Amino acid sequence: MYIFITLHSYQDFSRCRVDYGDYEGVMGLEVHAHLLTKSKIFCGCSTAFGAEPNSHTCPTCMGLPGALPVLNKKVVDFAIRLGLALNCTISKKSIFARKNYYYPDLPKGYQISQYEEPICTNGYLNIYVNDEKKRIRINRVHMEEDAGKLVHENAIDTSSYSMVDYNRSSTPLLEIVSEPDISTPEEAATYLKALRDILLYLEICDGNMEEGSFRCDANVSVRKKGTTELGTRTEMKNLNSFKNVEKSLDYEIRRQIEVIKKGGQIVQETRLFNVDEGTTYSMRGKEEAHDYRYFPEPDLLPLIVDDAWIEEIRKNLPELPTEKMERFIDEYKLPRYDVEILSSDKELARYFEETIKLFPEPKTVSNWIMTELLREFKEDNISPKDSPVSPACLAELLSLVKDGTISNKIAKDIFPEVYKTGASPKKIVQEKGLVQISDESAIIKTIDEVIARSPKELADFRAGKEKLLGFFVGQVMKETKGQANPKLLNALLLKRLKGE
Ligand SMILES: [Zn+2]
Repeated sequence: MYIFITLHSYQDFSRCRVDYGDYEGVMGLEVHAHLLTKSKIFCGCSTAFGAEPNSHTCPTCMGLPGALPVLNKKVVDFAIRLGLALNCTISKKSIFARKNYYYPDLPKGYQISQYEEPICTNGYLNIYVNDEKKRIRINRVHMEEDAGKLVHENAIDTSSYSMVDYNRSSTPLLEIVSEPDISTPEEAATYLKALRDILLYLEICDGNMEEGSFRCDANVSVRKKGTTELGTRTEMKNLNSFKNVEKSLDYEIRRQIEVIKKGGQIVQETRLFNVDEGTTYSMRGKEEAHDYRYFPEPDLLPLIVDDAWIEEIRKNLPELPTEKMERFIDEYKLPRYDVEILSSDKELARYFEETIKLFPEPKTVSNWIMTELLREFKEDNISPKDSPVSPACLAELLSLVKDGTISNKIAKDIFPEVYKTGASPKKIVQEKGLVQISDESAIIKTIDEVIARSPKELADFRAGKEKLLGFFVGQVMKETKGQANPKLLNALLLKRLKGE
């Protein structure tokens, strides 16, 4: 029996809490992270991206008969680094295994991966969704090699030939597998972001989703709230942006609920997400699922890791994003929202801390970074470490506001120039004559002029239309080109308007 269902494609997803009625989603994510090692996992070939096709190859990564793999120690270092950051147990002994399947981009006819005894197991990652902490357990982290890349003449089904580039063959990957602890698409995206932040903090992956160095597959099932049994799951492949992860998972959860409500059954299958239509569609069913016939890789010895090796790596771990967030909340009394933004990039966090060393008002600095500075960074697409405005320069600008030399508005007005030229804010303020007018008599003089030419507004104000205060402030600011000290102006103006 066929079950026909109609679903609206996913269109207006906003970051509000999703509601699936009596049902909830159950998701586990599998993430592949490309490692930033200089050479490949089992040979000395370069991992550099964008080279002439097949120029970074040797008999080992092209799978020629008789060539033997030699494990790259750096890959193990990176795997342990991530394992420790994810609170995993590091296996003293782990095994490489052959995952057998044939595809033209896999010259050996098998991929060397880890199967029964991976290097890291039983970890967790804490995430925060709507200010609530949730622990996502990590089942395992294992090492493996990537395949090569096929290049087709045009779309795969109309090409008369395909070409293969083995430059990517045998580049190192870590696969990070979570337990099915994720209940909403928002949690999935938050988990992914948190995981990506950790990889970036550890400097072991560049986290680029578009280029495929950080890729995600998801296992999705649904169940009635309050039950614990797992439903039949589908596998979503190649979710290549945070937005697509949320959209596709939301669609897939709703689709499964619809099928179940109509008395149907979920079919175990692999599905893909159609970005344009916002829907998911079946790629292959269970009957086509591979049986990889894993067995221990006979060309590699079991990997033995001792305590000294693990401790050496633990000692050199940087402060991780969650630790930094907790510290920022504790030390600087910042809201979680600010802290999540500031700690999302190690360099941005460093920039913030350098600035508050010179201007110790964390919330003011945080506001400026999150609005003015990040806007410029985004426009120029640059990293905080390349900021043309140094922390000292930003601190100088904020000090000018604090000591009353300029108003906050003037500071914001000149910020783009400070950013563009990298010039000292003090110098710009002096050169442009922007120093705030804090001379009472000068302000009173302008106030009196404005009042003299606005008799109607004055009468209305005195008759109780207090909103007109804004009108008078605006007029005086216009006359003084925004340079009147706002606090002083308000106080003086009120006195004048009330006839005091
Ligand atoms: Zn090679």
